[in-house]
Amino acid sequence: MIALDRVVGDFTIRLVLKGNKSVEFHGPADITRETTDAIVNAANSSLLGGGGVDGAIHRAGGPAILEACRQIVTKIGRLPAGKAAITTGGRLPAKHVIHTVGPIHQPGHRTQHETLASCYRESLRLAEEQRLKSIAFPSISTGAYGYPVKEAAEIALATVVETLETTTYVSHVRFVLFDAGTLGAYVTAAEQLIESDRSSSLQIEKAS
Ligand code: ADP
Repeated sequence: MIALDRVVGDFTIRLVLKGNKSVEFHGPADITRETTDAIVNAANSSLLGGGGVDGAIHRAGGPAILEACRQIVTKIGRLPAGKAAITTGGRLPAKHVIHTVGPIHQPGHRTQHETLASCYRESLRLAEEQRLKSIAFPSISTGAYGYPVKEAAEIALATVVETLETTTYVSHVRFVLFDAGTLGAYVTAAEQLIESDRSSSLQIEKAS
């Protein structure tokens, strides 16, 4: 087990999967600085920008991202929760931004689990379509949308690990988590995943 009190500062833990694929947990850090092929934006349905990670991505990436979002809205209208759309990364180090809309947390609402899982699946599907190798996710829905972090981390990780079993191109997923509490929740979810499936080839490494 990894002691969570070691999850401080700029920290990366790597979960190594079969087929030379990996899932990393990095933070506390700002996703706009990521050099993966794509970064994921926790957008809202209007795609016209907002607060949190959405605001940070548009500020750092410049107007080309918003322009591309406007074109998507003109074509398909608002983006429903659980769906994803891809644009340029503008001035970001990442070439692409994949915008996905998480569910707004409503206690006891049964479909939200599936909607949150769908955000991760659809984002990975778009990355795979573009033959991208690496993608970085923030913790979707756990900011303004109020999803409990522990639950969201378990859904995010289980969905990513399951989807990575089916990808040909995407082989590296990085969760870039903004605060130590969120990072700790994702690391705990990774530890639980390993505990529950000791027969798998998952192993945890301290990467840096
Ligand atoms: P949502 O509306 O889906 O809840 P938010 O942007 O409000 O999206 O929050 C989602 C997560 O992203 C939260 O954990 C928040 O702390 C985090 N976050 C905010 N800014 C950044 C950033 N620049 N890089 C990475 N994560 C961020």
